[in-house]
Amino acid sequence: MKYQKLKDRFLNYVKINTRSDESSKTIPSTASQRDFLLDLADELKEIGLSEVSYNPKNSYLTATLNSNIEQKVPVVGLISHVDTADFNSENINPQIIENYDGKSPIPLANSGFVLDPKDSPNLKNYAGDTLITTDGTTLLGADDKAGVSEIVCAMEYLIDHPEISHGKVRIAFGPDEEIGVGADKFDVAEFGADFAYTVDGGPLGELEWETFNAASLAIKVQGYNIHPSIAYGKMINALQVAIDFHNSLPQDEFPENTKDREGFFHLTSLEGAVDEAKMSYIIRDFERSGLEERKNLVTKIVKRLNQKYGENCVQAQMHDQYYNMAEVMKDHMEVVELAEKAMTDLGITPIISPVRGGTDGSKISLMGLPTPNLFAGGENMHGRYEYVSLQTMEQATDVLLQIIKLNAEKEDQKCP
Ligand SMILES: [Zn+2]
Repeated sequence: MKYQKLKDRFLNYVKINTRSDESSKTIPSTASQRDFLLDLADELKEIGLSEVSYNPKNSYLTATLNSNIEQKVPVVGLISHVDTADFNSENINPQIIENYDGKSPIPLANSGFVLDPKDSPNLKNYAGDTLITTDGTTLLGADDKAGVSEIVCAMEYLIDHPEISHGKVRIAFGPDEEIGVGADKFDVAEFGADFAYTVDGGPLGELEWETFNAASLAIKVQGYNIHPSIAYGKMINALQVAIDFHNSLPQDEFPENTKDREGFFHLTSLEGAVDEAKMSYIIRDFERSGLEERKNLVTKIVKRLNQKYGENCVQAQMHDQYYNMAEVMKDHMEVVELAEKAMTDLGITPIISPVRGGTDGSKISLMGLPTPNLFAGGENMHGRYEYVSLQTMEQATDVLLQIIKLNAEKEDQKCP
């Protein structure tokens, strides 16, 4: 095996519970992420990286692989996140299936849950591979411990093979991607890369440089409660107003009715009584103007409801969360093309499609560092059916090395 420690690293990393916590206000949101990053810092020093540094302000661990060539080439950045999604992450106990036949259902230990090709048709792509699954009680955490393992193994490989020419590489491991805040304090200047990739995508070949534009919406309805027997002309039922609000949104623009490049309004929670009701939405659109139109529609509906039910009956709070990285990437397509070339050189077909979501790169790109997303290998992320192929993780590591090699072949040149 080319990357001797890839499997062991991955197994060691996933066993450590680094679930993030949306309700926490600390950075990182859970102490276990910091502990994990500090252990990782020791490992990076051990394999011989320099400038290994943990920044407590943003909880990013960064390190440098120094250039071993004369000419100046752009500095490549590689980034992944150490937190895992909102699903049980206690006592992760990975199962290893050697030489999977590509068709059999895989019982997840004694949990009663089964990873079945009927529900997970991509399993057929992994005939002959070594699959790593959960035991059915937790998620696996390939999102994004696969990315972390691949980056560390790529760095180790270059240190162990000094005959491979490469420019300077900067790596960063950060917190709290799954709760959407980890990259908020990413320090582009301190990182000092000319372009970067998040290694946080799914199956073989994924290459993403377009994401949603995103906003959150919180609706609060103040009703007027009075005994129903004497409610005539007086009662304002907050629940009814909430229903009116929801029904005023275009019904064909909910997630269950949209796909491809269509945006949506998504009601994520609804609670209340006659007196008061609260709703939470996320709003998504690939176009920035589309996001603005959606926000304007909300404002119009709120205004109309307040004319009907009384001033301040309905209050809306909207907050932009992230923007489509394509705004930045369209002027830096050479970064995408470099990754495409690296994949095709290795016989991997790039799968380029817009992400119906966001990545850390959505924020980091808008901060000025073009950062598309590369596959890390995970499938069925965020739950008990998550799995990853060891061979795909090797290929992801190969892609990172190939990107670094191709970048080193560039003539003396300015940063992109
Ligand atoms: Zn991820």
